[in-house]
Amino acid sequence: MNKEAGNFARIVIPTPLKEPLIYKVPDPLWEQIEIGMRVLIPLGKRKVTGVVLELLRETVVPETRAILAPLDDRPILDAALLQLSQWVAQYYLVTLGEVFGTLLPPSLRSETQRTLLLKPGTFSACDALEKRILDRLRQSKGKISVKRLTGEMSGGNLYGAIERLESIGAVEIRERLPGHRTRREKIFLEAGSAPTLEAQPRFILNSEQEQAFRKIDQRLKEGGFETFLLHGVTGSGKTEVYLRAMEQTRRAGRSSLILIPEISLTPQLIDRVNARFPGRVGILHSALSAAERWAQWWHIVRGKVDVVVGARSAVFAPLANLGLIIVDEEHDPSYKQEEGLRYNGRDVAVVRGKLSACPVILGSATPAIESYQNSLDGRYRLLEMTQRVQRRPLPFIETIDLRSRFNRSQQPNGGKVPLQTDSPPVQQSGEHRLISDRLAVFLRKNYQASRQSLIFLNRRGFSNFLQCALCGYVLRCSYCSVTLTLHRKQKNVCCHHCNFRRAATTLCPECGNLTLSGVGVGTEQIEEALHRLVPEARIARMDRDTTSKRGAHGELIRSWEKGEIDILVGTQMITKGHDVTGVTLVGALLADLSLNLPDFRSGERTFQLLSQVAGRSGRGDEPGTVIIQTYAPDHYAIQHLIDHDYKGFFAAEIDFRRALNYPPFSRLVCLRLEGPKFEEVEKKARMLGTTLRDKTTKNARLRETIEILGPAPAPIEKLRNRYRWQLLLKGKQSSSLLALAKQAREVLPRSRSVRLHIDVDPYNML
Ligand code: ADP
Ligand code: ZN
Repeated sequence: MNKEAGNFARIVIPTPLKEPLIYKVPDPLWEQIEIGMRVLIPLGKRKVTGVVLELLRETVVPETRAILAPLDDRPILDAALLQLSQWVAQYYLVTLGEVFGTLLPPSLRSETQRTLLLKPGTFSACDALEKRILDRLRQSKGKISVKRLTGEMSGGNLYGAIERLESIGAVEIRERLPGHRTRREKIFLEAGSAPTLEAQPRFILNSEQEQAFRKIDQRLKEGGFETFLLHGVTGSGKTEVYLRAMEQTRRAGRSSLILIPEISLTPQLIDRVNARFPGRVGILHSALSAAERWAQWWHIVRGKVDVVVGARSAVFAPLANLGLIIVDEEHDPSYKQEEGLRYNGRDVAVVRGKLSACPVILGSATPAIESYQNSLDGRYRLLEMTQRVQRRPLPFIETIDLRSRFNRSQQPNGGKVPLQTDSPPVQQSGEHRLISDRLAVFLRKNYQASRQSLIFLNRRGFSNFLQCALCGYVLRCSYCSVTLTLHRKQKNVCCHHCNFRRAATTLCPECGNLTLSGVGVGTEQIEEALHRLVPEARIARMDRDTTSKRGAHGELIRSWEKGEIDILVGTQMITKGHDVTGVTLVGALLADLSLNLPDFRSGERTFQLLSQVAGRSGRGDEPGTVIIQTYAPDHYAIQHLIDHDYKGFFAAEIDFRRALNYPPFSRLVCLRLEGPKFEEVEKKARMLGTTLRDKTTKNARLRETIEILGPAPAPIEKLRNRYRWQLLLKGKQSSSLLALAKQAREVLPRSRSVRLHIDVDPYNML
């Protein structure tokens, strides 16, 4: 037993492979080191950054190395966040190092170089240490690195002293991050400055909003954890309810966190939050530069914001005194991280609410099946908003059946069509058409009426793939088992999984003829077709190809908002929560694309996507129309969509889930093996399957509660030159599933040739 006078600290190093290590806290640092603080520690021959997880009186570790220095003047993570990290590590079966690697902005994971600069003027009210720092600065021409100072001035609270000197304007702290050299205030102003804030209206809540708000408000006043599921149709004014709840939270002196699926797609929401909490909003998302993220993080740690808006990883924002968490569009798949730490931001948000004893609001027009079931089970409290604000009608939705040679349109409500005067005839063309005649007529009319139209196709590129007209050969990615998509503007074919590209050609590599041609359509082709169809219209496209440049999203959305675009065509990006009042027509092409994925959530996903995109229509004074072109007009997802009937859809979907014992009736863990050699991956996958089956048959409890499916090749068998096999564990309780998955890790320890990824509550199983 190592029992010296000094204490010890359990320290997390934010890299995936590391479990916490124990270090000694040397005497001079005793007073300064706190739980949740960053420290500089020796590791092998290097010096690395760690975070103090726990302080210990004693340790059984015989030899410990000493902490070199604290890296900041205060903890960057509080007790609740540390607790949350531990929950995440246990539930998602990862190391704490992996969790911290995700949670901390990259620049906080390593040591930043800080320099002190002396500012002109004389300053009184300095204590001895502060005087020493100023003297030292004068000696070295007004400039010294903090690291150097740390070495020279041990003892005393150096960082506290520096901070005081900074606050009285005696010194300036300059931080250097990889590739950046900026003052911290400046970084923050740049990152936080919103475009001009127009005066935002303060609505009188309508009665449904009022009722929802009152229940949340009551919980805020009483205190404690509760999860609300705010189920409000598109345009019902959910955002206004969030804003009121956030204001109440601030009145009580506490902070709020609001998560949104993709921040670049929703500049409007950020504007609205900025307008309500001017100068008190922190923003966290992955598109920020390292310097911006770092500055935002510090601003939040220092308590300078009341509200944080962010994407998935902002669920770990270091807000002190958290009083409310909101997850907007809680059903959105982008809350699920698909690599590294495979967590679901929405689920972690609920756990954080529980640990912080504060309410959580999950909002959606199309709640995830699991969430809605939770509300029926009484785990979440259901709040419903069934009407659009100001009694605006929901859009009128009709389908066009792509199966028949003669497209038929299906019109509910006895064929009542809003643009009644001269409803266009149904298309009478035998050939397969991208845009049906009926949709074409609606598009032209809408353009002539100076209104905006949205065309949704969930596939980018020009053609889906290239095929040889003579020998039938299909061009595939060399690294993934998927076809290459033709991008005509860029004159190349591209893999949408690994981004492999090569020049487009008509030469068939199989038979040598110049007979390769495009099959299937993508957004690029639709854009072209639209130009032919409505030549005068201003047409723009929004997908990953047109928005890869930083800021491109925002610009597109803003000109869409301002009415500078007549027709916007795009992938699922255009379905997200924009509130643009000029949009009165939405067309969804090949609407059942997502129905055909080999995934038990394909019906849910289709219903959600189409409801969201339909919900963009008719948000202003004019009623909206939606035209859905589909090969599956009778599928229940499409049928309930036409009627705006979430509950009907839920009832049908839940029957299907129950029949096949899928979530929410079971929990899943996906074990995926990946490696460069097919035979090896297969062998290990089979071995793992046999071992796990053995373990379950020997254990009565596991045998009855866990089902093992597979191993089998993943639907996408090869990705980025790695072969993929998977096993699916299905069970009633997550505890026994996790126990079994943990054993899989022991059977297949980390190896170079075949890697095991454990995905708890998987979303994407392709
Ligand atoms: P949702 O998020 O439910 O789709 P939003 O919150 O975007 O809906 O609200 C739709 C529109 O209605 C927004 O333009 C919003 O400013 C406006 N709005 C919200 N509440 C009210 C209200 N009580 N009265 C009038 N307009 C409102
Ligand atoms: Zn590829």
